[in-house]
Amino acid sequence: MKPATQIPLMRATLIAAVISILPMPLQAEPIGDAIRDVPIFDAHMHYKQPAWAAYPVKTVIELMDENGVAIAAVSSTPDEGSIRLFEFAPERIVPVLRPYHDDAGSSNWTKAPGMLAYLQKRIETYAHKGIGEFHIHDLDPSDRPLLRAIAQIAKARRIPLHIHSDAAPVRMFFKLEPELTILWAHGGMTEPAEVVGAMLDRYPTLYADTAYREFDILNGGGDISPAWRAVINRHSDKLMVGTDTWVNDQWDIYAKLIALNRLWLSKLPRNIAERIAYKNAERLFHRKVSPALLGTR
Ligand SMILES: [Zn+2]
Repeated sequence: MKPATQIPLMRATLIAAVISILPMPLQAEPIGDAIRDVPIFDAHMHYKQPAWAAYPVKTVIELMDENGVAIAAVSSTPDEGSIRLFEFAPERIVPVLRPYHDDAGSSNWTKAPGMLAYLQKRIETYAHKGIGEFHIHDLDPSDRPLLRAIAQIAKARRIPLHIHSDAAPVRMFFKLEPELTILWAHGGMTEPAEVVGAMLDRYPTLYADTAYREFDILNGGGDISPAWRAVINRHSDKLMVGTDTWVNDQWDIYAKLIALNRLWLSKLPRNIAERIAYKNAERLFHRKVSPALLGTR
């Protein structure tokens, strides 16, 4: 006769064996072609001065209409571009305050004289719902007072910062002001999916847009890469899409950029695809997306 303790052990082995031959739990079906009817919230748009003549405000809204883009968060060099677009179509545009103007650009804006006063004046004058997209290339301690002041404005107004940088400046901002909300442009652009995932794990109020990451996510064109799929599965409530129309070349291919985003979203289950397409940005920018917005201003 076998000792009594062996019986539960044998039973456990048997259960393990049965589980191992059962099919994997079914993944929800990808949304596929039905993604075409899901509206998009473009969370990373620019309307810079060189675009104003080639793409008048009316044309921008028509491009959004044609591509099922209900709302866009727009920052511009100079900020006047965002305001023009917002004033033309307030229901469709969320203006985000970019610091760049005159001689102040991505590499020197933190040193520009009067920058804080400029930002304060504009954010008090207009309806901005974020500050950015700005670049932080290195961590210069002499920039700290300005960055802290910007973080405090964002926190007081409960609006996100839209930051283009690698992981270190994002960490620095959360150290300066732990209650900040940050939209990490391009998920750090060059940071690997694993780092994006670890950052999203660590900071509950960190979000990321995936502009310029589409081919990376698609593993060069096929299915979604395993590393990105892990990030998407864990953080489908924190990712959003964007086109980054930083030069007119991007405006020229706006339809293709939206189609490329719909391509990778088509490989995800509907509930996840909808979050990334517009629901997360709805929450971040306090707007309501509806297909009924298309064709309106
Ligand atoms: Zn950008």
